[in-house]
This record gives sequence, C-alpha cells and structure tokens, in this order.
Amino acid sequence: MNDNYDVIVIGAGAAGLMCSIEAGKRGKKVWLVEHSSKIAEKIRISGGGRCNFTNLYSNPSNFLSDNEHFCKSAFAKYTQNDFIHLIKKHDIQFHEKKLGQLFCTTSAKEIINMLIAECLEQNVKIDTEVKISNLSKNETRYTINTSKGNFNSKALVIATGGLSIPKIGATDFGYKIAKQFNLEINDLSPALVPLTFQEKELEFCKSLAGVSVNASVNVNKTVFDEGLIFTHRGISGPSILQISSYWKQGKPISINLLPNVDLGKTLQQRRVDTPKQNLSNVLSDYLPNKLASAICKKLSINNKIGEASNGTLKKMSDFVNSWTVFPTGTEGYKTAEVTLGGINTKAISSSTMECIDHPGLFFVGEVLDVTGHLGGHNFQWAWSSGFVAGQNV
Ligand SMILES: Cc1cc2nc3c(=O)[nH]c(=O)nc-3n(C[C@H](O)[C@H](O)[C@H](O)COP(=O)(O)OP(=O)(O)OC[C@H]3O[C@@H](n4cnc5c(N)ncnc54)[C@H](O)[C@@H]3O)c2cc1C
Repeated sequence: MNDNYDVIVIGAGAAGLMCSIEAGKRGKKVWLVEHSSKIAEKIRISGGGRCNFTNLYSNPSNFLSDNEHFCKSAFAKYTQNDFIHLIKKHDIQFHEKKLGQLFCTTSAKEIINMLIAECLEQNVKIDTEVKISNLSKNETRYTINTSKGNFNSKALVIATGGLSIPKIGATDFGYKIAKQFNLEINDLSPALVPLTFQEKELEFCKSLAGVSVNASVNVNKTVFDEGLIFTHRGISGPSILQISSYWKQGKPISINLLPNVDLGKTLQQRRVDTPKQNLSNVLSDYLPNKLASAICKKLSINNKIGEASNGTLKKMSDFVNSWTVFPTGTEGYKTAEVTLGGINTKAISSSTMECIDHPGLFFVGEVLDVTGHLGGHNFQWAWSSGFVAGQNV
C-alpha cells in the first residue's frame, strides 16, 4: 500500500473539485484523482469558453430527476449566492447574459484557476493521468488499485460525471462503480443536445442552416421560449437543447416559429390591407427572408395574398404557429452537454450524498440522476452536491 488518505475523490471536474476543497477545509487529507491529462475540461469549454457557472434563479424546478425533491437539501445548503461569493472573493469578473445566466467576463479558465488555488490552500493533492483498475471495500476502508499504486481511504467520492464529450475525458466509470455496489441506474440518454432529422425535414433544415428565430417549443405541455437555429443535421439552439431533455424517440415536438403573432388572424388582415403582396414577402415581414421563402417552397405557396384562399392562409399559419416535427434522433454524446438519468437517488442520502447502504461511499454531480436545464443549473448542482459531500466525508 503506497499511502492512506481520509478522502479519495475520483474525477477532477466541477463537483470533485468543490468536494475536495470543502473536505480540505475540514482538515481532511484529500487526494483528488483524474484519469485525463488535464483537470476540469468541461469547465474550460463550457459557455463558449466563458462558463455559465450558475443561474440567479436556479431552483429545484430547473431539474429533471426520478425524485424531484432529492436536490432540495443540497441547494438549500449551498446556493448560487454562495458560489457568487466565492467568485467575488477571487475578483473574477462576471455578468448576467440573460435569464439569470451568469458568465465569466474574461475566461472560464479563471474558475479553474480559482478552484485549483482553493485546493492548494487546503493541501488537496491533485494527480492527473491516474488509471484506476480496481476498487474494493473492506470493513472500514475503500481501496483503489491505480497506475500509480494502491491507495486507501475512509471515504471515497465518485465525481466522474456523465457520458457527454468522451474525447475530453467522459467515461462510464461512475455507473460501473454504482453497479458494483448494486445501485440502480436510471436510463441514460444524451440531453441538452441538438436534434436530427432524415430526408424531407432535413432538406428543409439544410437549406436554412445558420438561420435562427425565437421559437416556442412544446413536448407534452413542457414549453421553452428561446432561440432555435437550423443546422445541416436538423435543429438546435437553446429552445431545442432544453426540450431535448423531455423529448422521447418517436414522439413529436410542436414548434411555434412566431410565438408572439397569431399568424392566422394577421394574414386575414393583410389580405385586406396588402392584397397585391406576394405571400412570401408578407411572411418575411415576420420571419427571416430565407425562412419565409423556404416555408412557401415547402408548402408550394406562391400566390399573391389577395388571391390566396382561406385554406392556403391556414396551411401557412398552421405551419408557422404549430410546426409538428418528428426528430429521428439526437447528435448524441459527442455534442450533448449532459447525460439525462443516472444513479437512482433513492440509494443516496440527499443531505450528505452518501450511499445509504455503503457508509463512506459518496456520489456527487452529474453521475447522479439529477439533470439541470440549460443556463448554469448543471454547474450549480455540481457545486451544491460537491459541497455537501465535502461537509460529510
Ligand atoms: C460543451 C459543454 C458545455 C457546457 N456548458 C455548461 C454551462 O455553461 N453551464 C452549466 O451549468 N453546465 C454546462 N455544461 C454541463 C456541465 O459541464 C456538467 O454538468 C458538469 O461539468 C458536471 O460536473 P461533474 O463534476 O459532475 O462532472 P465533470 O465536470 O464531467 O467531471 C468529471 C471528471 O471525472 C473525470 N473522469 C471520468 N472518468 C474517470 C475515471 N475513470 N477516473 C478518473 N477520472 C475520471 C473526467 O475526466 C472529468 O474530469 C456543459 C457541458 C458541456 C459538455
């Protein structure tokens, strides 16, 4: 045996770093272990390099989980204001972009540097490129066999995140450990992810790649009103990423491309007011030109509005105000921001993140079945769950 620790934390992402800092503050001897060559890669690439590190309005309703109450205790113990306080202590400049989303003004690297500095202050030992081959438990301690030797600790924290973006380090390690300890795993799927189409719908989207609108998207009465962008593979943008967490394969999504306009009524009025105008030009008063022409082409409409029948106007307004699409899939884990589902929280204490049947074993962050909406909520979950585990290891 090479060395003993009070706490070994596996996974140096947002949750693992926060947990290590808090455990270190309590005088624990902590080893934070990362298998990649760099730590906190998701923080670095998040928010377009500026990390949307929390949300002013983050609350349990921003999360999907089998147990919607599970996240409440951790959020009450460590709030967005607590993280903002930490950011301010390190003089990191930030701003609200929209909808309470807080971003670094300069770079996400400032957050990584802050977390490293906090770890160093608490004497947390951080090692990268540590490959773990086996994990076991005896009466009182957990042992890991690694490429750097065998180590044991009283508390073991699994902070290895979800499956998204394998090329920067994501693995299924956390789920494997959960299975080893007989914990249930709720279905996993890529979420906060662009949606893809085949054939007909794809032709339409491809011709519009890069065009964006504000849209209202709806799955089973869950609605998001945010940007939508057409892509070469389908549709993306904040509203689509959000709804991807609720969409199920084979089910439709209803999209209102013009949420603030009742196009049916508007077209009836325009038929009286501007009868000589081509319908495509009328539509481009409300939507980007390219989208207006693509819709007319798709619906085979090229009349002047004064000559258009009620049926034609209805066809157009139905399409614009309630375009029903059946995505064929998602872009998958290579672009998804998070993994929906995860370790079933019924086996975990919501106030400590400790496994109820395995004292000393903790799970934090995205590996658990707690998935946030877009907008800084996922990092807030990583900070809050990491914090409470750090208080209890
Ligand atoms: C492109 C992108 C942008 C995002 N932007 C935002 C945003 O702006 N705001 C927001 O709130 N959320 C954002 N997210 C989501 C957010 O990054 C995650 O929810 C959050 O990082 C989860 O934290 P975590 O600590 O649980 O896991 P991670 O941050 O994924 O950390 C897990 C760590 O464990 C390591 N690991 C994995 N397997 C092993 C192993 N076998 N041994 C040792 N180490 C291992 C990984 O390399 C990684 O360092 C974004 C995600 C992506 C992919």
